[in-house]
Amino acid sequence: MEKNPSDLFALFGNPVGHSLSPAMHNAALKEMSINGLYVPVLVEHLEAAVKGIRGLGLRGVSVTIPFKTKIMKYLDVIDRDSRRIGAVNTVVNRKGRLVGLNTDWQGIVETLSAVMTIRGKSVMILGAGGTARAALFGILKKGGKPFIVNRTAQKGRRLAKEWGCPFYPIEAIKNIKADCLINTTPVGMFPNMDQSPVNRTLLNNFDVVMDVIYNPLRTTLLKDAEKAGCMILSGLDMFIHQGAEQLKLWTGQEPPREAMRHVVQEALEGNIKK
Ligand code: NAP
Repeated sequence: MEKNPSDLFALFGNPVGHSLSPAMHNAALKEMSINGLYVPVLVEHLEAAVKGIRGLGLRGVSVTIPFKTKIMKYLDVIDRDSRRIGAVNTVVNRKGRLVGLNTDWQGIVETLSAVMTIRGKSVMILGAGGTARAALFGILKKGGKPFIVNRTAQKGRRLAKEWGCPFYPIEAIKNIKADCLINTTPVGMFPNMDQSPVNRTLLNNFDVVMDVIYNPLRTTLLKDAEKAGCMILSGLDMFIHQGAEQLKLWTGQEPPREAMRHVVQEALEGNIKK
């Protein structure tokens, strides 16, 4: 099949203006000596945009808010893991056949695995949205023991039941101890950087604290956790790993994770007043 003069990749989302994915992926493509371009696309009509993947011969697409679930019905194949999670963040164009996959769970697992063995460990997942589902999937797959804590009890309970794990209401946090805490809520994200989803006096009940937020790089939750003596992991690691896994799916090559991290970190440090 004849290819575009350069390999084209895109991010589908709405909004996409502040995304760091283009900077990360374009830096990686350059480092990998792939003559490619990754562009952000503000999608107004999802079905038409998906047809455009074939029409324009895009090799791959990242999918972000609010399309991760909505896009599934327009794709030709959804892999089993993504079906279980209920969301797709990656589309691979295999000769016109559009395959939906999810690398968010890998981003979480690879981040945690750098500092702990997940098997047998208790992991408190705070939140019950899309990222919580990816976390649940990954931790269960690696033999961990996740449980859910969520602001809206009904939603949290439903999610926990679906995945066969315990649920605790948010007021119960004060009585919880676990090997690891993962914040999958947006609490503490720019511009609300002074907020934290967990009171700092409770953080010494966890050995490892991970935030999925990467803007700011060090959230109030992570700063407090570090002071409490916890090992801390930022959402930047998740972001890099989920992006690297996308590139691996699109190109079959191992991406330069350190170069990707460098570019994103630079962009974030340039953007954020500390
Ligand atoms: P989502 O589906 O909207 O779920 C958000 C969850 O957070 C919900 O369970 C919600 O609780 C809870 N929440 C929201 N505001 C809250 C508050 N003020 N207090 C307590 N709980 C609150 O969102 P998502 O798609 O999972 O995304 C969550 C975060 O993950 C975002 O910040 C996103 O940027 C980040 N993310 C990072 C990466 C990465 O690569 N690092 C990848 C994907 C997502 P209720 O059920 O009570 O509403």
